[in-house]
Amino acid sequence: GPPGDAAYLDGLNPEQRAAVETLDGPVLVLAGAGTGKTRALTCRVAHLLRTGRARPNEIFAVTFTNKAAREMKERVGALVGGAVEGMPWLGTFHALCAKLLRRHAELAGLKPNFTILDTDDQLRLLKQLIAAENIDEKRWPPRMLAGLIDRWKNRGWTPANLPADEAAAFGGKGGRLYADYQERLRTLNAADFGDLLVHVLTIFQAHPEVLATWRGRLRYILVDEYQDTNVAQYLLLRLLAAEHRNICCVGDDDQSIYGWRGAEVGNILRFEQDFPGAAVIRLERNYRSTPHILAVASEVIAANERRLGKTLWTDETEGEKVRLIGHWDGEEEARWIGEEIEALTRGTRGMEPVSPEGIAILVRASFQMRAFEDRFLNIGLPYRVIGGPRFYERLEIRDAMAYFRLAVSPDDGLAFERVMNRPKRGLGEKAAQSVNLIARERGLTLVDAARALVAEGGLTARARGALGRLLEAIDRWHEAVRAGADHVALAETILDESGYVDHWRNDRAPDSAGRVENLKELVKALEQFENLQGFLEHVALVMDNEQEDGAAKVSIMTLHAAKGLEFPVVFLPGWEDGLFPSQRSMDENGLAGLEEERRLAYVGLTRARRLAVVSFAANRAVFGRWQSALPSRFIDEMPPEHVEVLTPPGLHGGPRGRAAVAGGRGAAGADGRLRAIEGLAGVVRGSELEERAARAGAYDSPGWRRMQARRAAPSAAPVVI
Ligand code: ATP
Ligand code: MG
Repeated sequence: GPPGDAAYLDGLNPEQRAAVETLDGPVLVLAGAGTGKTRALTCRVAHLLRTGRARPNEIFAVTFTNKAAREMKERVGALVGGAVEGMPWLGTFHALCAKLLRRHAELAGLKPNFTILDTDDQLRLLKQLIAAENIDEKRWPPRMLAGLIDRWKNRGWTPANLPADEAAAFGGKGGRLYADYQERLRTLNAADFGDLLVHVLTIFQAHPEVLATWRGRLRYILVDEYQDTNVAQYLLLRLLAAEHRNICCVGDDDQSIYGWRGAEVGNILRFEQDFPGAAVIRLERNYRSTPHILAVASEVIAANERRLGKTLWTDETEGEKVRLIGHWDGEEEARWIGEEIEALTRGTRGMEPVSPEGIAILVRASFQMRAFEDRFLNIGLPYRVIGGPRFYERLEIRDAMAYFRLAVSPDDGLAFERVMNRPKRGLGEKAAQSVNLIARERGLTLVDAARALVAEGGLTARARGALGRLLEAIDRWHEAVRAGADHVALAETILDESGYVDHWRNDRAPDSAGRVENLKELVKALEQFENLQGFLEHVALVMDNEQEDGAAKVSIMTLHAAKGLEFPVVFLPGWEDGLFPSQRSMDENGLAGLEEERRLAYVGLTRARRLAVVSFAANRAVFGRWQSALPSRFIDEMPPEHVEVLTPPGLHGGPRGRAAVAGGRGAAGADGRLRAIEGLAGVVRGSELEERAARAGAYDSPGWRRMQARRAAPSAAPVVI
């Protein structure tokens, strides 16, 4: 048994304990949201360490985000009393595979200092390849090819084992372009995100001795959010675990929301086949949410046909109903949420005051964020955007990073291309073409081609001089990296000597000052890292960003990014048919698409601990076009007895000649909900009003009738879903 001070076991329920203490052989924990899967997994790590079963470097633990990895590391440290040094193999699939690949890069035809490409670089590369094939880029966009290649990599297909019908994609040239692309990546000493996994998988498959080494070292495997692993990840896990079979996966089929990215729920079902005799553990007690939130989430997800089905219950009895409110448009929705957040932080909404940090806004589509960002900037409400267009994606940051990449590996051709003429140094299109031509003709890297061009007196004297100076500078920076110079000072030098910061300082555009600030921030961020390479790797991997600083902030993120997280208060705006569920996912994937959207609704609702607020707008500008919208069908599926309908203050008359609405805050149940929708209809004029009346039929849906029938019979705990 564990040493006497294993207090971390005491707080667990019996099923969780089983998940923690069943250390030998395969374990699958299959359970609903908030039942303590992640907590059990964390305790399992602690338990492995505490009982001496494994050393920190023998545990291979996969989380879905970098943030989750950091949190798990911290918690394990707290549980075992800070004795954890390292845990080098705790991270996302990508981070772990990047690490493995650095050790064996040469087996994939790369050097250990290979660059991890971002989407932008990838697209530029594909664009070049498509152009070289004389394919019409308008008909066959690079983005489409990128999507295909990504899909193939998610399935573990290399150019060598790509099925013929897949290779025939992209006008018959998909397979060839894929092979060309991989070849180019190799000459650039680069890997894209998908490669991290596929290369490692291929190495393990082709080099049994390498696989044997890692099987011996990584003796305990743990995977969180298992429902969202793709085939390549699954194959990798199976290879690593085949011998010792000490693998523990936790997941929830109802939270599988990355089907569009190649995740396969089937992996859950396959687990028991691949690991016969696996212990399957179900957790049914929810520790996160109030009964109202749980009832609403459970009822919504119950509308899905394809699910394993689970029981969920909670001991809690108190709590707020899920709040529902309709607005005129997205701006008003943002304004109202801003005010509501201020009220919640003051504690004037019938609840204890909530810290901004405990509040999240979860959107379906990232364009929705803009309204909130604008609004919050306006009222001075601190917020952070998680997973949206973010700091490291800004132009000036990407340019600076390209310089850093060159300093680390001067043969990074894409980085060189990017900064060759940034700031402008007289090396325009023509110079770039000359360099490219020499590179192609002589099979050189771009940087070497540029060197040749300078040595042989190509270009105009002025351009040659500028190019020569740039190359010298790159050599100098690289030398400094190799000599182990202080990387923060070096970064400053690079931004200085390249003329890049000055270029923005002298720029008169209104946003230039902000860019200089950002560059400063970038250098500051470097301080937390040991060297430039570590930082570059971090940025490449941490694109699901989280910038840290002291102030308590409201979080804005997509529903996808919210997986695994929890907040006391969650706002769920934009519940309109077409936006959520998204029209596109329904068009592309029919019922399966709709069911994945519904799982997303379930994920969103179950992030909330104390309060969930769902809202919709009658009018929404989507990509600049106004559309009038119907409340989401998921709203129809919410059980009225657990919902409180609010009436926005704006509806009581206003600039648009709004009609006064009967009812208001406190109106509960189906009648209240209908009132809110009717109230909204009151603000819609003329023909729109008629249209809405016609749509009222929608509220006579089977879901609605089912709900009303159920209203008569009060639901008893546990809520069975
Ligand atoms: P999700 O499916 O959303 O990822 P999960 O199953 O991983 O959820 P956790 O995040 O591990 O759930 O736990 C949800 C909440 O319940 C957390 O706040 C956690 O600390 C708490 N919790 C879990 N188990 C227990 C327990 N045995 N006693 C008290 N609180 C618990
Ligand atoms: Mg979890």
